[in-house]
Amino acid sequence: MIERKENCPLHDRNTFGMKVKCRLLLELDSPQDLLSLDMESLPKPVFVMGGGSNLLFLGDFPGTVIHPSFKSLSIQESPSGYPEGTVLVKVGAGIVFDDFCGWAADKGLWGAENLSLIPGEAGASAVQNIGAYGVEAKDIIETVHVFDKNTRTFSDIPCGECAYGYRTSNFKTVWKGRFIVTAVTFRLSRVPAPKLDYGGVRSALAERYPSEEELTPSMIRETVISIRRKKLPDPSETGSAGSFFCNPVISREHFLSILEKERAEKGADYMVPHYDVGDMVKVPAAWMIEQCGFKGVRHGGAQVYPKQPLVIVNSTGDALPSEILELERRVISSVNERYGIVLHPEVEHVGSVPSET
Ligand SMILES: Cc1cc2nc3c(=O)[nH]c(=O)nc-3n(C[C@H](O)[C@H](O)[C@H](O)COP(=O)(O)OP(=O)(O)OC[C@H]3O[C@@H](n4cnc5c(N)ncnc54)[C@H](O)[C@@H]3O)c2cc1C
Repeated sequence: MIERKENCPLHDRNTFGMKVKCRLLLELDSPQDLLSLDMESLPKPVFVMGGGSNLLFLGDFPGTVIHPSFKSLSIQESPSGYPEGTVLVKVGAGIVFDDFCGWAADKGLWGAENLSLIPGEAGASAVQNIGAYGVEAKDIIETVHVFDKNTRTFSDIPCGECAYGYRTSNFKTVWKGRFIVTAVTFRLSRVPAPKLDYGGVRSALAERYPSEEELTPSMIRETVISIRRKKLPDPSETGSAGSFFCNPVISREHFLSILEKERAEKGADYMVPHYDVGDMVKVPAAWMIEQCGFKGVRHGGAQVYPKQPLVIVNSTGDALPSEILELERRVISSVNERYGIVLHPEVEHVGSVPSET
């Protein structure tokens, strides 16, 4: 069934809480609905949306927003050709991703626990290649089930064909706008495979469970949730779209020149936080934003989140898209001036800023 809503307010449907509307919202509850949709007749542009947790709407959206709200879930135990203990779970695109993580942990299935509490829906997890605490969606995606808007057919895309990278995939690049994800098959396991070496999970786990109990996915899930709650704004209280900027990857020479300048200012022992990525170096954008003095800085209702400067929040609940954009531009320009690095937003900007009349 397709539910149609004209001039539909979106502020409850985007975690930034932007008070915008779309001309038409279509709520689809079955993949078969896609076959009965005449895409050509819909107000343009057409945008597919999940939980709206990685989006910045720049103004009222003049076209159609399609929300695939598919909620089916099916399980295949011990599929042949897979290692012992494997369980394949096909998750409808509209299932809240964290509900899936909670379900898997309750069932004692390993694989999704480190991704707990990431907002959004299962469909988008395969578009975005969401990641946290040393795990990315691609590590557990087996197949992405899609509807091709061009050919009006359903097909299954193996994980290996999606060109997954850091928060990216073919769905965000060469296939942009072509596919609607209808479901994602995740590969979980009954065989324990805890991943504890990232973001303080191991120490937080030891604090939470001091006796040496046998680890379960639920223990890791609860630990990850407690770490995230301390650091990140809860979208039900403070609007945001999570990390606003991608962490830049720069050449080693560039990194060394930054290190030299910082040491001249802060002392010879100072170390710029970084991670080696092959021959290149990843420098946390949050560190650069903080060094540029932006931690907690407000611009109208927008604010660089004091606990995590990588996040821009709608601190008053009434921030305008233009205020978020202006703060974004100020951050980009300061970081570029100081470090010669142009930060790129991770948050997708949707639509355009209304022109002043
Ligand atoms: C507080 C907070 C914390 C966050 N923490 C993390 C984190 O730790 N790690 C991380 O990776 N991300 C994080 N995010 C970002 C966000 O949760 C993810 O990007 C998430 O996958 C977005 O899911 P969504 O359903 O809200 O997608 P949306 O924001 O609605 O859409 C995102 C993109 O996916 C496309 N899309 C959505 N559904 C479909 C579909 N069915 N078919 C085709 N395309 C589709 C949209 O067109 C858009 O391009 C965080 C966000 C917030 C607000």
